Amino acid sequence: MKTADLAGLTLASARDGLRSKAFTSTELTKAFLANMEAARPLNAYVLETPDHALKMAAASDERLAKGEAGALEGLPLGIKDLFCTDGVRTTACSNILGNFVPAYESTVTSQLWRDGAVMLGKLNNDEFAMGSSNETSCFGVPVNPWRASGDNRSLVAGGSSGGSAAAVSADICLAATATDTGGSIRQPAAFTGTVGIKPTYGRVSRWGIVAFASSLDQAGPIAKTVMDSAIMLKSMAGHDPKDTTSVDLAVPDFEAAVRRGVKGLKIGIPSEYRMDGMPDEIEKLWKQGADWLKAAGATIVDISLPHTKYALPAYYIVAPAEASSNLARYDGVRYGLRKPGRDIVELYENTRAAGFGKEVKRRIMIGTYVLSAGYYDAYYVRAQQVRTLIKKDFEDAYAEGIDAILTPATPSAAFGIGAMSVASPIEMYLNDIFTVTVNMAGLPGIAVPAGLDARGLPLGLQLIGRPFDEETLFAAGQVIEEAAGHFHPKRWW
Ligand code: GLN
Repeated sequence: MKTADLAGLTLASARDGLRSKAFTSTELTKAFLANMEAARPLNAYVLETPDHALKMAAASDERLAKGEAGALEGLPLGIKDLFCTDGVRTTACSNILGNFVPAYESTVTSQLWRDGAVMLGKLNNDEFAMGSSNETSCFGVPVNPWRASGDNRSLVAGGSSGGSAAAVSADICLAATATDTGGSIRQPAAFTGTVGIKPTYGRVSRWGIVAFASSLDQAGPIAKTVMDSAIMLKSMAGHDPKDTTSVDLAVPDFEAAVRRGVKGLKIGIPSEYRMDGMPDEIEKLWKQGADWLKAAGATIVDISLPHTKYALPAYYIVAPAEASSNLARYDGVRYGLRKPGRDIVELYENTRAAGFGKEVKRRIMIGTYVLSAGYYDAYYVRAQQVRTLIKKDFEDAYAEGIDAILTPATPSAAFGIGAMSVASPIEMYLNDIFTVTVNMAGLPGIAVPAGLDARGLPLGLQLIGRPFDEETLFAAGQVIEEAAGHFHPKRWW
């Protein structure tokens, strides 16, 4: 098989090829390393680790030869730079971490290596995962492999997991890890024609992942297909005594769930997600998705999630509040950047002023404000109350027998680099209007590519599930994927 063909495989077909000895992990890994080099203009990787990759591939080839293959044996993956990797620079794409090299491995990545996967490198993201366009990274913006037809301007790959989404879409890894606090797996997946699932809060360990907002953060995969994302999540998920929020539940056979179908399922369509000024093509896509699920045997039911409109403002209180507390540890004393001063206070000030980017500083200031005496009750406590109401909206829908909820993934297709960041940050925050509710309620959500807009750019649909029922999302996602087909950018780099 030619190099280009190898890198174009899905995770599932690459796994089959390795097991049937059609090619070796070393050959597969070399194909990706060559593609990565050619794709440097995309700026998806912030660190390539070819030596690591080839060593891991050689070890995998030995295990494959002995018939001892793990679930991801020999499969080359990209890792978001928010996951600590032992001995490999991890920065959260922030200057404040400088050249930080962790002395430990995150639980998620350690499980990937346990199962035999190969690490190609670390992927770009928004600084501390704060953003929806990956434009806040200290390494610069990753470029979306997709371009509008007849227009060669560069588009964002979404955020914060923009590097992960760009890399999967451009065939420079088979699949990638990502994290999602308010939409950072699902929105970039929708912008790049890839599949992204944010699992239920507690399904995946957060240990060793740089914290943004701990009550919302959850890791998951971005992959080429629904099946590939099921294979990835199986390895990433599971109870971890090192993360007290991780839940002690058996990890289901997600792969088996993919083929389960949707016959007899009740799929809810929430009227509150029909936003004013929503583009016609998003509305059409949504209707198309409902029709596909109906044709596959599901019942479509109109539902109401009345507190939806408060989710975004409440999120932008809760998330910065937790961020301001989590980011207090970056003080120039323990690790990362240090800018000396006359005394310890000035050292803190100099280090934090120099190390954090503009958006991160904005969040720290908002967070500190809403947590301060006198404002705590008015903002933080109220936002938490709203959060409870949002969660209850979903519980009520599920109590009435709804199995999953279908919504658009994003209010638009990918936008131009610089198009929003210079304007008001609120416009950028609106990108997460369909995704933040899911984090606020701790539920699982998957984004699946469902079509192209009038300019030929990918659009995604989102399915939201019951707590710990990722299986239904894989089943319903597969129905959409089969009806919509696969989407691949034309290579211009
Ligand atoms: N875009 C949202 C934010 O900026 C969500 C980011 C995320 O999920 N990490 O907070």
